Amino acid sequence: MTDNENLRTPIVCVMGHVDHGKTTLLDRIRGSSVAAGEAGAITQHIGATEVMIDSIIERSGASGMKNNFIVPGLLFIDTPGHHAFTSLRSRGGALADLAVVIVDINEGFMPQTKESLQILKRFKTPFVVVANKIDRIHGWQPHENASFLETYNKQSERVRADLDNKFYEIVGELYNSGFNSERYDRVSDFQRNIGIIPISAVTGEGIPDLLMVLLGLAQKFLESNLHYNASGPGEGTILEVKEEKGLGTTIDIILYDGTLKKGDTIIVGSLGEPIQTKVRALLKPNPMGEISAEEKFQNVESVTAAIGVKISAPNLDDALSGATVRAANPENLETIVKEVQEELEEVQISTGTIG
Ligand code: GDP
Repeated sequence: MTDNENLRTPIVCVMGHVDHGKTTLLDRIRGSSVAAGEAGAITQHIGATEVMIDSIIERSGASGMKNNFIVPGLLFIDTPGHHAFTSLRSRGGALADLAVVIVDINEGFMPQTKESLQILKRFKTPFVVVANKIDRIHGWQPHENASFLETYNKQSERVRADLDNKFYEIVGELYNSGFNSERYDRVSDFQRNIGIIPISAVTGEGIPDLLMVLLGLAQKFLESNLHYNASGPGEGTILEVKEEKGLGTTIDIILYDGTLKKGDTIIVGSLGEPIQTKVRALLKPNPMGEISAEEKFQNVESVTAAIGVKISAPNLDDALSGATVRAANPENLETIVKEVQEELEEVQISTGTIG
């Protein structure tokens, strides 16, 4: 087995047509773990939610498989949509290591579904498709949080036939977009076939299967990309530039490599020359402190990838969302300033946006 100590959490982005359920799915992934009272099942980050591996395995009822997994969990970016996917870059590609394309099973493919697939093809990002809103199929009997096969086998023959018909329309559409696909439980080689998971983001049905398939994909195709240097300098992408009461302008970032410490010199991409500043505070959401604004954040000394974190530092007013943040030292400062600048130009060219 490989040295998995420096294997970071894969970063996942949810994409798809408007109203097909991206936000509801992310809410469900966050909410059901909380509602089920599973301590430590998820961790709320700034701009992202981490689902822990133990909880994924437990939910899917596959506890015997625990030792087969070496990734620590899955980090879902809370901002859904393909715009987020394309504008959030890391060096050499998209920030997200994996994607979920969501399709309303009753509506089928829509323009933004096709657009999402083209983007993923371009970036060569591994992905799965979820066929959402199965609970809207006429006559559907919901089974909260059940695995797809469990709930499917409890439906009437007519309901199952209806689902199968709608499902194969999605398989056909995927084929027209250049992808071979099959229901996830029938896929033996995820490199050749895209797995489709029927789910309901409202009842939670199929979500255990989705999380399990994502873990499998991460493990199979990403292992080499997920190795990072835990003690190396921090490197991340800006999600949002935000004014915070008492802190001034802050940046919310996803740190995808290395470690960032309080006091580190950082180079931050901006509209003009990259900003050179020092980390004043690293802030995580405070799980207990939602009552008052001052207690909204927890101040930490250092953070290690992959993680969503807020940085408080002087001179962040001109920082740009989508741009890179990198820790630097006096020896490599000039090189890093140059690289951050170049990466910014790349993002602007490829997305046609700078915000
Ligand atoms: P987004 O635009 O892709 O983020 O879509 P939303 O998550 O906002 O969902 C759009 C609408 O579809 C909302 O009214 C949701 O409540 C509803 N919706 C999303 N997922 C499901 C589902 O699995 N079942 C049902 N019945 N409704 C859903």
